[in-house]
Amino acid sequence: MELEAQERYAEFLAERKAEIEERMVAAAQHAGRDVAEVSLLAVSKTVGVDEVALACQAGYRLFGENRPQELSRKLSALRDDPVMAGVRFDMIGNLQKNKINQVLGQAELIHSVSSLHLAEAISKRAEVRGLTARVLLEVNVSGELSKSGFAPEETTSALERIMALPSIAVEGVMTMAPAHDASAARATFAGLTALAGRLRASSGLPLEVISCGMSDDFQIAVEEGSTLLRLGRTVFDPAYVLS
Ligand SMILES: *Cc1c(COP(=O)(O)O)cnc(C)c1O
Repeated sequence: MELEAQERYAEFLAERKAEIEERMVAAAQHAGRDVAEVSLLAVSKTVGVDEVALACQAGYRLFGENRPQELSRKLSALRDDPVMAGVRFDMIGNLQKNKINQVLGQAELIHSVSSLHLAEAISKRAEVRGLTARVLLEVNVSGELSKSGFAPEETTSALERIMALPSIAVEGVMTMAPAHDASAARATFAGLTALAGRLRASSGLPLEVISCGMSDDFQIAVEEGSTLLRLGRTVFDPAYVLS
């Protein structure tokens, strides 16, 4: 990026960040929640290394990628940049078993553990590497056929089995809401929060992370209990209109 374009984009990122945070505060207040409970992860899958570096300068510290190769590429390009101090990348997208090794030791948190088989494969590879993989269970709360994830009713027994694996730690749950339907999104997020409560009770785990809310529905997600928003377009795209 040319210097002038960089300056303009940096200005946009800072302004947009303030607008997002304003809306997070208002939504938290509306729901009687403390906004400090809600973290903001910037989904950088559509932008390049320069944009991520500028977003770090604007104050973002959490990033998410949905392709292992892109996550590795950005991490290695930015690793030695001083602006990257304290920055973390999460894996938020569908993870194929043959890509697990690429993600382990790079992604801080894998949001998208959508089956017992995948959990077993992650634990096995993490054990070989002497790591514990930190993960969320992806739950298909809305029941749409197009979405991956555990069915809500299978999560209790799946979590029990996963807790017995040696090298994987479940830290919470994740979901995606139906698009373009605010009331379905609200029901989905509320359902995820309630499910997390039931899983805490059955497992005794803290399960502090409730990963939900994207650009079109993040205010609803804050109102319904999200602790980790995953925002892409609204963070990085100047053409995206924030509602
Ligand atoms: C792309 C993506 C997002 C961000 O979506 P936006 O609508 O751009 O905010 C969040 N979560 C996952 C899993 C994604 O793939």
